[in-house]
Amino acid sequence: PTTALDVTVEAAVLELIEDLKKDFNTGIIFITHNLGVVAKVSDRLCVMYAGEMVEEGPIEEMFESPAHPYTRGLLCCVPRIGDDLTNNRLWSIEGRVPHPAEREKDACIFAPRCDWRKKGLNLSDKSLVKDCLVKHPQLVSISDDHRSRCFLGRETLKVPWNDYFRGQRRTLEHTEIDDDLDTTDRLMTVDNLKVWYNERNPSLRAMLGLAKKRHVKAVEDVSLRVIKGTTLGVVGESGCGKSSLVKGLIGLEKPTGGKAELMGLDLTIPVKNRDLSLIRELQMVFQNPDSVLNPSYCIGQQIARPIRKFGTVPKREVRQEVERLLRRVKLAKYYYNRYPRQLSGGEKQRVGIARALASRPSMVICDEPVSALDVSVQAAVLNLLNEIKEETASTMVFIAHDLSVVRFISDYIAVMYLGEIVEFGPVERIYPPPYHPYTEALLSSIPIPDPKARKRSIVLGGDVPSPMNRPSGCCFHTRCPRRSVLPDGGAICEKEAPAYQRLGDGHRIACHIPGEQLTQLAEERAKAV
Ligand code: SF4
Ligand code: SF4
Repeated sequence: PTTALDVTVEAAVLELIEDLKKDFNTGIIFITHNLGVVAKVSDRLCVMYAGEMVEEGPIEEMFESPAHPYTRGLLCCVPRIGDDLTNNRLWSIEGRVPHPAEREKDACIFAPRCDWRKKGLNLSDKSLVKDCLVKHPQLVSISDDHRSRCFLGRETLKVPWNDYFRGQRRTLEHTEIDDDLDTTDRLMTVDNLKVWYNERNPSLRAMLGLAKKRHVKAVEDVSLRVIKGTTLGVVGESGCGKSSLVKGLIGLEKPTGGKAELMGLDLTIPVKNRDLSLIRELQMVFQNPDSVLNPSYCIGQQIARPIRKFGTVPKREVRQEVERLLRRVKLAKYYYNRYPRQLSGGEKQRVGIARALASRPSMVICDEPVSALDVSVQAAVLNLLNEIKEETASTMVFIAHDLSVVRFISDYIAVMYLGEIVEFGPVERIYPPPYHPYTEALLSSIPIPDPKARKRSIVLGGDVPSPMNRPSGCCFHTRCPRRSVLPDGGAICEKEAPAYQRLGDGHRIACHIPGEQLTQLAEERAKAV
């Protein structure tokens, strides 16, 4: 029930469900793919795979000592907010869930993807997996109340489930103020960008031109620098303006004001008037890959099209280039002749990435590319983007609504609220305090995949205000849980928009509360929960 919700709304709904459960003593079956949500609301967990229950048990035992290889894999895939910031790789489960028509009756349904079977992972006695391809495993007891559908039974428990490979994030040097950067390092420069939409007013007065024109101010005075070879993550809830910012940059909306340039090329020109060279330099990966894939053409033709259009390679080398791109996104050569309907969601997103890379762009904007994917597929796509970024020194803007996801891919993070950037900084400065009160609420709302960490979220009152009636002063003042700590009880927040406080390493926060006090407040809260 919370899949399509923003983290802050999700947190409020989950707390409500927990309270209702206690008050009415009601039994709840909660269906979700989000392990953080499961850990927060459940007492027992049942893991399903390809139509079968593969493991079942009490929630704490399932998270502490999962027995089935699929459950263990799932737990490793989840990005965790408390993880070491130097980790930039997630575990992913290779392959895909088999189609119902392809499921073997006389074998373990997870066998084609199981590393314990394929690689004899961690097994001293390899004969334990000899039946995986010839017999269907039954549920076996792991403890009194915990069962797993695997021939290995308790054998897997000998190895800690979280003992998996972690990648090493590179470290970057940061300058205090963006403008100190050498201009050759800046790939994209955005200054005071505004994207406003005219209000649709069907009244007679409006038709006669007598009504006052009103605007939806989706993006308001956004300034950014994107440095060559880095990834900027942009996060915020629905309605925060991140999609409008993307539309403004990609040319789907004409910015109302401000400047935006990519390598000196003007980005405020609508896409239909853009020069081919600008389109080639700025490409996009969409949330829904189906929106860019034509069901009537094979994958090879669809990747070849932008290669031909932009003249990336001579005509006779197009096929080779398509195959190179397929390899780059980890799809085998034979995908050239497949059609979109034959691909899983994750494979389609890989094709979407290959198409975006076809013109060899200087910058790729990824608009929520993993939010519609399952956790194991999401991990694989995030790892792929990270590898591409590191191998090709690509520059990316990564839009997401989840702070636990962006940290794996981003070097810098911008937190948006109501069309403004309320906090900006290098990733290693965003996750420890001080936080902007909105960032703090977002971080506290992320469900932690650990049933022992049943923390209370900061529940933000009310909805995001309408961008048509922006609050005066600080744009967050109508929902800010921290403003009362100010000496005047937060009255200043209603009158004066806060200037950015510069907190070192390019980290800036738009808030009237001083940085040291924000740190202290966050630390006090961490002790209290
Ligand atoms: S029964 Fe075999 S293939 Fe299936 S999960 Fe267990 S080890 Fe893997
Ligand atoms: S300026 Fe005031 S309302 Fe805005 S975030 Fe800071 S404390 Fe909250």
